[in-house]
Amino acid sequence: MSRNNVDLPFARPCIGTAEEEAVLRVLRSGWLTTGGEALAFEKEFTEFLEGPHGPPSGYNPLRSLTVNSATSGLHLALEACGVRAGDLVLVPAYTFVSTAEVVRYLGAEVVFVDIAPGTFHIDPHALEACLARLVRGDCAYPQRDAPGGFGPQGAPKAVIPVHYGGLPCDMDAIMDIARRYGLKVIEDAAHAFPSQLRAGSWAGTIGDVGVFSFYATKTITTGEGGMVVSRDKEIIDRIALMRSHGIDRSVWNRYTDTKASWYYEVVAAGYKYNLPDILAALGRVQLARAGELLEMRKQIAAAYDAAFQDVACFSLPPTGPGDARHLYPLQLNLKGLSLSRDAFIEKIQAAGIGVSVHFIPLHSMPYYQNRYHLTAGDFPESMQRFQRIISLPIWAGMQRDQVERVIRVVKTIAGNYRINP
Ligand SMILES: *Cc1c(COP(=O)(O)O)cnc(C)c1O
Repeated sequence: MSRNNVDLPFARPCIGTAEEEAVLRVLRSGWLTTGGEALAFEKEFTEFLEGPHGPPSGYNPLRSLTVNSATSGLHLALEACGVRAGDLVLVPAYTFVSTAEVVRYLGAEVVFVDIAPGTFHIDPHALEACLARLVRGDCAYPQRDAPGGFGPQGAPKAVIPVHYGGLPCDMDAIMDIARRYGLKVIEDAAHAFPSQLRAGSWAGTIGDVGVFSFYATKTITTGEGGMVVSRDKEIIDRIALMRSHGIDRSVWNRYTDTKASWYYEVVAAGYKYNLPDILAALGRVQLARAGELLEMRKQIAAAYDAAFQDVACFSLPPTGPGDARHLYPLQLNLKGLSLSRDAFIEKIQAAGIGVSVHFIPLHSMPYYQNRYHLTAGDFPESMQRFQRIISLPIWAGMQRDQVERVIRVVKTIAGNYRINP
């Protein structure tokens, strides 16, 4: 069966008349690219994360910068953190390709770290063990027989924890390790708007830089887009500069002796990663609705949890109070089933329901396998999670009968293929 007969999609943006009017307002204004809407979006995003009381005591104010994607934001964040060719950046093997490819953009090397048992998050113990090896001068990967391991060697510069599914990582452990090893921490918060570690402590604001995604399937969307946040003035100034061609407009015009509006200087070979106002206007409405959209996802997750918790061949996704519930990664206990995960997915799709797999581990991808001589078995936790997971639809606007239909279909397949103990 193909996906063609899917009538209940895996993801669907929740767009209303307020979003339509916001886009029309910009179209009619005559100013389409980055301008007042992007500035307002940045200000409102900061206000959301900072809350009414401003920064926590002892912290600098947070600043937010719009970008045209989270991938661009991650690239800018690494660049601003000083990552250069030959440096090492630690990345979970279990993530979307963006998290790793941005390291390669800069000529730096990716060091994969496995996820922790029972979670979808980078394993702090494995992270620490990997760093200890690297500072000893060993290679990144101790697995397999090569003396001293295999994979890149060099100076570790940064780590990119991923708040998979909207559930925040153990940032206390990660920050402690990063500070001891002198690493910058860039939070991949693509799934994590809004996610809280503790009341008022938002994912994305704990490390040196946080990067959010507004891709079409994410928790709030601008179609394509993202936001970078930081409390570090040097980092955020550098990101602002590199986001638009390395152009510095604040400079004095030495030719006309004035601060002429047309004058600028290029101080670095920058990028073009700005977010147009058409999209920023959409983002402002979605931001204002973030709490409402989160509540809808929470209700769907609660219905799934209640329906699946007693099914022996299912394991529920790990969760916690601050979970943004971006994904619902149901895990199959394959020993209790007489069909494979892939066959299970085909049967769900044949019933007209869209599902997905988050993620195919990056160390199993040809590019990374070839570059670092990796094999699929090198990160067993990531591989096991991948082989067992099915991402079920969980999007704001899904109707109760649609949620019930997913539950009915998934439970029926499990019932039909259950191996009785
Ligand atoms: C979607 C995603 C990204 C990239 O987001 P874009 O805005 O599409 O560039 C990065 N990391 C993770 C974990 C993602 O799921």
